[in-house]
Amino acid sequence: MADAKPGNAAPAKKAATGAYTPSGVSPNRRSRRSYTIRLWAVRHSRFLEWFYHRFADVFLLLHPLWKAIGYNRVETPITFIERNVKGLLFDCRMCGQCALSSTGMSCPMNCPKQLRNGPCGGVRANGNCEVEPDMPCVWVKAWEGSRNMVKGDAILNVQKPVNQSLRETSSWLRVTAQAAEARETAAATKDA
Ligand code: SF4
Repeated sequence: MADAKPGNAAPAKKAATGAYTPSGVSPNRRSRRSYTIRLWAVRHSRFLEWFYHRFADVFLLLHPLWKAIGYNRVETPITFIERNVKGLLFDCRMCGQCALSSTGMSCPMNCPKQLRNGPCGGVRANGNCEVEPDMPCVWVKAWEGSRNMVKGDAILNVQKPVNQSLRETSSWLRVTAQAAEARETAAATKDA
């Protein structure tokens, strides 16, 4: 076995940034399994849309519980669960402002350019990405997934730029808190 010499040391491990890394370029590349499941999610976008609405309803029902415990306190465990569940299903990068219901269940943060409004002008003639020639364009997949969804035309809405300060936070909790606030405001207006 070769001696470890100064200068032969292994390069320091890159810090995880959540940023997209093209496959074949970095040892951090995503496994094939993640990619296969990601495409499954796009093919089953209608079912996942239906399931997400039921799931969001349950989360909203639990609002009094989140409020009693404190949204700040539940943030860490819920973010952990969200990261693992959505990481498995969508190759989620935890941008904290989920757009899946507007992008055919194809996570836009998997686009090498992280475009929130795509596709770019570099889509190849076969529908693949210009940066990753073996990968179908995330936005081509988003369009296909959106065509299966009841509210698929949401893909035509212009998405806001990513707010980097929300990275690694829970979209589930944010959407729930916003829905609860909107519901309470509507009730207060009605009573006034
Ligand atoms: S849009 Fe953001 S939160 Fe949603 S799956 Fe992609 S990285 Fe995760």
